[in-house]
Amino acid sequence: MSTPQTVQHWVAGARTALGSTRTSPVFDPATGRTARQVLLAEAADVEAVVAAAHDAFAGWSQTSVTARSKILFAFRELVARDAQRLAEAITDEHGKVLSDALGEVQRGLEVVEFACGVPHLLKGSYSDQVSQGVDSYSFREPLGVCVGITPFNFPAMVPMWMFPVAIACGNTFVLKPSERDPSASLLLAELWQEAGLPDGVFNVVHGDRVAVDALLDSPWVAAVSFVGSTPIARSIHERASAAGKRVQALGGAKNHAVVLPDADVDFAADHLAAAAFGSAGERCMAVSAAVAVGAGADRVVEAVAQRARAVRVGPGRDEASEMGPVVTAAARERIVGLVDSGERAGARVAVDGRGLVVPGHEDGFFVGPTVLDAVTTDMEVYREEVFGPVLSVVRADDVDEAIAVVNANPYGNGTAVFTSSGAAARRFQRGVHVGMIGINVPVPVPMAFYSFGGWKDSLFGDTHVHGPEGVAFYSRAKVVTSRWPETRQASGASLQFPTSS
Ligand code: NAD
Repeated sequence: MSTPQTVQHWVAGARTALGSTRTSPVFDPATGRTARQVLLAEAADVEAVVAAAHDAFAGWSQTSVTARSKILFAFRELVARDAQRLAEAITDEHGKVLSDALGEVQRGLEVVEFACGVPHLLKGSYSDQVSQGVDSYSFREPLGVCVGITPFNFPAMVPMWMFPVAIACGNTFVLKPSERDPSASLLLAELWQEAGLPDGVFNVVHGDRVAVDALLDSPWVAAVSFVGSTPIARSIHERASAAGKRVQALGGAKNHAVVLPDADVDFAADHLAAAAFGSAGERCMAVSAAVAVGAGADRVVEAVAQRARAVRVGPGRDEASEMGPVVTAAARERIVGLVDSGERAGARVAVDGRGLVVPGHEDGFFVGPTVLDAVTTDMEVYREEVFGPVLSVVRADDVDEAIAVVNANPYGNGTAVFTSSGAAARRFQRGVHVGMIGINVPVPVPMAFYSFGGWKDSLFGDTHVHGPEGVAFYSRAKVVTSRWPETRQASGASLQFPTSS
């Protein structure tokens, strides 16, 4: 067997090990084999990376906004050119099917396209003659070194929610990707260099909690964007805020899709299956709970179960596969354990994906699509974020009870309603305490020119990512009040509080 290659950091425009010696295995989830190792940074390594980003800030923050925009346009072309290569790197370490990985690259690319418009996005405002001979105007400046700490489930898209906007705004960036699928971040770093981004503006440091803590404690880090599970999001928000940094920390989710009695059942079932089992349920916007309303609930369960049984599960590189493995053996054990707990608590296993074996890939981390019916909100499988291909069906009598179920859940990332009634949809959209809502759209991920973010335990901080809120997060405003007297008029010192005249 060949020795697995080691994934290095990317600092000031080059791959480097710095002083790191600890490593973590990166698996090929389709085979279960260790594909390579990734370095895990120590605090001193993080200091070196942040220093590189800090040094680069002096030049990049003074680069004209039009020059920055040109580099973003070039980066956009290169990501589009290499989309397939990026998708393959994602599939090989995450496990998702190639078409899904390509979709992730595409959604990340859309944020780059949004950020290409940075000259427009950073435009300030100007008010003439706010007082006699006085004008007032505003503009926005970058913050400094910004950090992104990202999860395994979108190794390209989630970082791309952050760094195109941060860099466009004139900041430098340090990415700490998930140690489970670290390779896509290095491909993106190389593309930045090819696009002409000065060395040190974009850096990648691999690591675990040691690296994250060092980033949060660094005095040179001005802002932290985190996406991951809720307990870590909460603690990162607390620690970074206490250190005086700007922080947005997006957490986990339990997304409900409510199917009202007037919905088209086949349409709803198609979309429920896609949203529950796409990417093996490892999406923060996956539908993991269906709330079937009224007497038609049995038909909904039956229709989804039929589709669940038909999903073709296999390695992500195989074009015939619709769903790949989950990310690690530990993730598979956890998912299976949660399904077991649901069954023990009285849920009916309508479709059972436990124990699925894919011929030729017996050691891969596969779990088949699973549908649990008659789930109640006190069950562990409902309360926990399963993050696997498991759909729990909860019953409700009417739309108000369904809204109450959604609102009683501590998460508030996304939710959807299937209905043919505009009035019911409007009641739903106004009633739910959730950040992103789909109406007959199961995975309502906002476009890049809107902002992405949930409510409650799905986001700690005030600002959502990308779109206008992303620009606000990665820049800060100055307001200037200016007077240029045409002739020197001595009027004497007035100690009165200034008001307009
Ligand atoms: P995770 O919380 O385990 O890891 C996220 C990042 O934090 C990784 O870079 C990891 O190295 C780091 N990390 C892990 N443990 C840490 C610790 N103790 N201290 C400091 N840093 C630590 O999440 P994950 O398993 O990689 O990703 C799945 C989770 O991410 C799910 O909960 C999912 O809902 C969530 N997610 C949320 C969104 C969203 O937009 N809200 C998007 C994608 C994923």
